[in-house]
Amino acid sequence: MIKANHLNSDTNKNMEVVNNGFGQLRKTGYSRVDRWDTKTTMKLSKMYQQILSLISEDSDRKGLKGTPVRVAKAIQFLTQGYNYDPKDILSTAKFKEEYKQMVIVKEIELYSLCEHHMIPFFGKAHVAYIPNGYITGLSKIARVVEAYARRLQVQERLTTQIRDCIQETLNPIGVGVVIEAQHLCMMMRGIQKQNSVTTTSAFTGEFLKEATREEFIHIIGSTLH
Ligand SMILES: [Zn+2]
Repeated sequence: MIKANHLNSDTNKNMEVVNNGFGQLRKTGYSRVDRWDTKTTMKLSKMYQQILSLISEDSDRKGLKGTPVRVAKAIQFLTQGYNYDPKDILSTAKFKEEYKQMVIVKEIELYSLCEHHMIPFFGKAHVAYIPNGYITGLSKIARVVEAYARRLQVQERLTTQIRDCIQETLNPIGVGVVIEAQHLCMMMRGIQKQNSVTTTSAFTGEFLKEATREEFIHIIGSTLH
């Protein structure tokens, strides 16, 4: 995972490279690298230090020593979707293909932050489309979900953004998106409905027909009917 602040992505000298805590990077083979913009990280870290004081914590105590920097990095990781153009992800992996049946990618893990409380919501996305001359790589669908989810979101908009991105880029005969998620802002505060799952869906084209939609919903095994 490469993480670069979109405002400063052209200035590599400002980048701090962290090798995931596994010690020295090896010269061969695979290694995942996380990157943060140093200036943004330091600014955020100072603010989180203030937040710690404002919630009556002793920001100087031992256990919290590295916390502001860690939280500064975490929030940038959790909102990295702003650095990606989801339409780009699909249009750079668009292949001509005559396949005209439903393509379904189900149970795509999803982690997002609600824009009202900046508290996580998480669950699964199920995405289907019926190609109209073009298909995309299956992993790209998951990456589109990720690029929209790693932002401040509401589940409803996340659902329609994924649908519209696929519709506008691949121009398929239809798109179906179902998201099932649990919202920690609901579970940890407010009405404390511990196990409620919120389901949202968005469709275009062929999926607006009941038979197609039912087939999709049957295959993903959703409780949505
Ligand atoms: Zn919320």
